[in-house]
This record gives sequence, structure tokens and C-alpha cells, in this order.
Amino acid sequence: MLRPELLVIGAGPGGYAAAFLAADLGLDVVVADPEAHPGGECLHRGCIPSKALLHIAEIIDESTHAAELGVSFGAPRVDVRRVRAWKDQVVQRLTGGLGQLVERRGIRHLRGMARLTGPHAAEVDVEGERVEVRFAHAIVATGGRAVRLPVFGESPRVLDSAAALELDGVPPRLLVVGGGYIGLEMATVYAALGSRVTIVEATAELLGGVDRDLVAPLARRLEGRVEDVLLGTTVVKARDTGDGVEVTFDGAEGATFDRVLVAVGRRARADGVGLLRTRAEVGPDGFVAVDAQRRTAEPSIFAVGDVTGEPQLAHKASHEGRVAVEAIAGRPSAFEPRALPAVVYTNPEIAWCGLTETEARERGIPCEVAKFPWSASGRALTLGRTDGLTKLVVDPASGRLLGAGVTGPRAGDLIAELCLALEMGARAADLEHTIHPHPSLSETVMEAAEVFAGTATHIFRRR
Ligand code: NAD
Repeated sequence: MLRPELLVIGAGPGGYAAAFLAADLGLDVVVADPEAHPGGECLHRGCIPSKALLHIAEIIDESTHAAELGVSFGAPRVDVRRVRAWKDQVVQRLTGGLGQLVERRGIRHLRGMARLTGPHAAEVDVEGERVEVRFAHAIVATGGRAVRLPVFGESPRVLDSAAALELDGVPPRLLVVGGGYIGLEMATVYAALGSRVTIVEATAELLGGVDRDLVAPLARRLEGRVEDVLLGTTVVKARDTGDGVEVTFDGAEGATFDRVLVAVGRRARADGVGLLRTRAEVGPDGFVAVDAQRRTAEPSIFAVGDVTGEPQLAHKASHEGRVAVEAIAGRPSAFEPRALPAVVYTNPEIAWCGLTETEARERGIPCEVAKFPWSASGRALTLGRTDGLTKLVVDPASGRLLGAGVTGPRAGDLIAELCLALEMGARAADLEHTIHPHPSLSETVMEAAEVFAGTATHIFRRR
């Protein structure tokens, strides 16, 4: 029997960030997770391996682009085995490093699945042996799992994102079902590696809910790189023929694919955690209900990350994990970000934070939108990437920043400045008057603020 002050169930970005902070604050911590090292879906089978593969896709894309600039490398020869080994090594290095941090912090890691048996008790299956844990507080950080589509039945040719990241090979023809984060990132990877990719999306648009002007450069670029993008289309029938998957669409002609990737969203992994033995509530959508401190209806039990709902983002989970621990430690903490960034790591990347223009219009919030097209950025020109856009959503009365979006290479890094600006309650004028390095893509932020002021150096608009 173990008697820690804190039990953390699940060691993904939510769970391990919580456990590490708790240990740093002096709490006695036990973590339960079936993997040898922390990392969860994000590090083992999600964010990190996909970014490793997206880096390779970018190199391939850049080498092709270089031919237009006068430098030819010839057609890429992809050694799938070495690419896979490199990707695996990235994951091992990162998760192994976290394993060392667990040890150095004196956190006890029970390698197994945990189940709550009451508000202050749980049992963990460790190699067939049941370890009982009695705790003062627990944090449930069990993440989520991919939604499956029954139309595809059971077929080894139908993959979820984890299987697609295994990179067993490069299928000549790949169908990607779902035009969201995962679908578009994996379509980017496999198209660069040489697959002929078709994307099928049930709604009328890719990345539904994201401002259309931010998505447009990606949609245009995909046109030249994937076989087809079928919008407003669903799969009505699918059959594994033994050497492919024969797919019937409604709204488009059927076709046969070597592999199918299903990426139509993720659901909470709240079942089997024993929450029914506590007063914690699970909503009809399957997500665990929590308050601003991430406390469930059972006062000793907190929940963070994907298991608590949208948006299902690793950085949100980590921040929630730290908030929960601060609350447990008696600090006045709450999860109330002004800027929760979202990044789609396609090429170009799409990033946004705070209020989007779409949301402002839907909710009738007065706003002014200032856009700076990257065609006017010297740095973007030197990269041959004038397809980007930086936009600010500003409160016209106060000039305060309400939200921002960036599309272009490294948009996921550029958005950080805008997150800080939002959190600090900055006005567009603060961005305008901050000297940005030249020539850099970050200048597009300053110049978008200048557009708001009506005085952008590199854009001429007669008043
Ligand atoms: P998603 O919600 O981003 O996209 C799913 C898409 O599938 C939607 O566009 C939806 O309309 C479509 N769809 C649903 N049912 C369909 C059907 N039957 N046929 C065709 N299309 C259908 O979900 P995802 O891409 O699976 O990603 C899951 C979660 O993982 C996301 O919510 C995201 O938060 C997270 N994620 C984040 C990142 C990142 O931060 N870069 C990357 C990958 C995943």
C-alpha cells in the first residue's frame, strides 16, 4: 500500500507537468501510467513523432522549391526504415529524458493502469499485481482516443493517427478521412513522402471554425500537392478487397486506396478510470466536468487535459495540470487564459489565439481586423513564401488586442508574441511601437499593428 499526497493517473503532457510541479512544491507524488516513460499520446504517438515527420516533409518540399531558385538536388530517395528510426529516436530521447526527471524528482512511477476505488483510493495493475494507493488528492489525466468509423470495419489497411505515425511504408494511394488537424498534418507528411493523397471532409470546409483567410493559403498549396480534396463528402461504404480498400463516397466517385487514415476527432478516455466510484461527473459528451481549478464534483479529485474537453491540445493540458497542482497546494490559481494558442503544423503552418474574426462576427463582438500580407514582407520574399498572412483582431474602442492569427512558415512560433501581448492586455499600439528585428517574419506582427493605425510602412493606402 502506497500513501502519497498526490496520485496522478496518466503521464501525458497534463499528467507529467502536474506531477513534476507537485514534486517541486514538496508533495509526495505517485504517477500511474502503462508506458515505461512519461509522454502520453503526445510524445509517444502524436505531437512529437508527427512533427519529426513534418520536418522531413519540409526538407523534401524545400529541396523541390530550391530548384526554382537555381539549386537542384534531384528527386528525393526516401529510406523509410531510416526515417522511422530517426523519428523513433526523437521520441525515445525525449521520453527517456522525462523518465530521468521522474527519478531525479523522487516521483514513484507505477507502470500500469490505475482505477479509482473511492475518493481517496485507487488500485494499479502492475504486471498482474494489484498495488493499492491511498491519496489525499488525485489528478486524472487519461487523455483521449481516436474516434473510429464503423463503415471501415476491422481492416489492417485502415489506420488511426498512431498507426499512420508508425510509418510502415509509403502507400501509393492514401485516403485521409477528416480535414482537421490530424488529417491535414498527416496528408502533408505522406504527400511529401510520395503518396497520392485524397482528403475527404464531411463539412464544406477544411479546418472548420478557423478564419477562412488563414486557411486559404494552405488550401491553395494543398491543391498542387494532393490528388484531391473532397469537401461536403462522406464515406458510405468501404470494403477491404485483400489488396486495397474500395471506398464508395456520397458526393464523389468511388476509388480504391492502399491505406485509409481515419482522423475524425478524438473522445475522452474517461471510462474504466473508476470515476463512477466517486462523485466526479462525466457529461453526455464523455468529458469529465471540472471547475476553474480543474476540480471535479469530488473535491479530492481533479481532471486535466483531453479527458476534460475541447480544445484537445497538449499545452492546454500542461497548463491545466499546473493549475490543478497549485490549487491542491492551496494557491489562488485558476485556468482562465486570455490566449490559448492553436497551431496546425501543416505547410504553411496556421496559428491563432484569443478571439477569432469568425467568433467575433458570430457573437456580435465589435472588432476591427488589421491584416498584413506576407507579400509585403522582405523576409518572406527571401524565403520564397509570400503566401502568408498576419492578422490582428482589435477592439476598435480601446485599441486592445482581442485575438490574432498567422499563416505561414513558423506561424506556430510567431504566435507566441501575440499570446504574450494578449495576456499582458497589450494594445495594437504596443506592438506597433515595439522595434522588431529586420528582416524577420516577426515584423509582420508590427506591421499588422501599423495597418491598424493606418500607417504601415510597406503598404500604401491612400486615406
Ligand atoms: P478534428 O476535430 O481537428 O478534425 C476532424 C475532422 O473530421 C473535422 O473537420 C470533421 O468535420 C471531419 N469529420 C468528422 N466525421 C467525418 C466523416 N465521417 N467523414 C469525413 N470527415 C469527417 O480532429 P482530428 O484531426 O482527428 O484531431 C483530434 C484532436 O487532436 C483535435 O481536436 C486537436 O485538438 C488535436 N490535435 C492537435 C494538433 C495540433 O495541435 N497541431 C494536431 C493533431 C491533433
